[in-house]
Amino acid sequence: MTWSHWQVPPFTTSVFFVLGVLTLYWVSYNWIISWTHTHQIKVADDTINTWYGLAYMIVFVFGIQSLIVGQTNAWEFMNFELIAITFCAYFLNVRISYFLLFPIVLVYMVFDGSLGYWQSWAHAITLMIFFVLLNLAHTRSEGFRRPIVFYFLTVIPFGGLLWFWMKLKFNFSWFTFGEEWLYLIIFEILLYIYVTMLTNDAELRLQLAKFASHDALTKTGNFAAYTEDIERLFQQSSREGRALSMMMFDIDHFKAVNDTYGHSVGDTVLREVAATVQTVVAENDPHVKFYRTGGEEFNLLFPGYDVAATKTIVDQIFTAINHLEIQSGDDVIRLSVSVGVSAITTDDKAPMDFYNRVDRNLYYSKRHGRMQITVA
Ligand code: GH3
Ligand code: MG
Ligand code: MG
Repeated sequence: MTWSHWQVPPFTTSVFFVLGVLTLYWVSYNWIISWTHTHQIKVADDTINTWYGLAYMIVFVFGIQSLIVGQTNAWEFMNFELIAITFCAYFLNVRISYFLLFPIVLVYMVFDGSLGYWQSWAHAITLMIFFVLLNLAHTRSEGFRRPIVFYFLTVIPFGGLLWFWMKLKFNFSWFTFGEEWLYLIIFEILLYIYVTMLTNDAELRLQLAKFASHDALTKTGNFAAYTEDIERLFQQSSREGRALSMMMFDIDHFKAVNDTYGHSVGDTVLREVAATVQTVVAENDPHVKFYRTGGEEFNLLFPGYDVAATKTIVDQIFTAINHLEIQSGDDVIRLSVSVGVSAITTDDKAPMDFYNRVDRNLYYSKRHGRMQITVA
């Protein structure tokens, strides 16, 4: 094989061409998403998916068709175009209303010089119905055990019908018709497998990222998540002068709970405490971040809050935990917590300076009789 002679069958080239086009979409889409996230641009991922997916499909379909427009073999790239459309309508689930879909198809027909052919009109109408049915197949397949059934029930008959209109227009043989239809089905199967593999991989990565930053017992952020967030928020505060407060609490005499009721009851208590805090946070401000930073030691970060602004939430958490009653057999377990609170100051040179002050406040509460809040 040399650069001037590719001794690879056209079918093989086509498969890799299609997969390459999809991979390029995937990589560039993920790049755009992470770019918008790091630059804190407030655009929903779904919006980017829709508009970028649509633009990508249009550029691809028009681009590829421009290579052969007006020639007698102007149907040769149709399978690639159908794959792009399937990807957009089914896998990205880009929804385009008829108001937008019809003009796009019309512009395509003008561009392709096919306005004067009735077969092209039949093809265009079939294509629009195909697009909408692919959207529908996607929606129907959610939560369905065999989503692939809806996919193939749409793709196979519509592929055949679309090729049938082209056979009538260009008058190629039935053999070519069958061959192209078969290629399309094979492409659609490969597309299905490929996208499923890509999305499984993405979900896996998402899960791993979640495991890496979540405390398995209490479903709060873990120490790693805390470290990462405090670094980021601390730098943001130093740069922009934005307020930042921290609350730390430690359960009083928790060892006694373990010693009296056993370790698994101790675990239940930790879960209940975390759930209580999460409820208070959710009711007040979901931007407040909550972590388990030690065995029975928890931490909350309040971005944008000075000490006074934290009072409502801190008091609610303190009261809620002190009133918690956890049933264990015939016994009721009651708890209390010692709390330390502080806000970032311009003297804090590193997150540790800030953290140590909150920690000192917490131990001040411990040494002075527990079940109290120290703010300084
Ligand atoms: P203080 O009021 O001074 O905080 O007393 P304490 O007993 O709460 O403090 P200490 O640090 O002596 O004990 C903390 C205990 O928390 C010791 C450890 O067995 C328990 N612990 C830490 N992690 C877990 C956990 O994941 N599950 C359970 N059940 N217990 C844990
Ligand atoms: Mg303790
Ligand atoms: Mg402790």
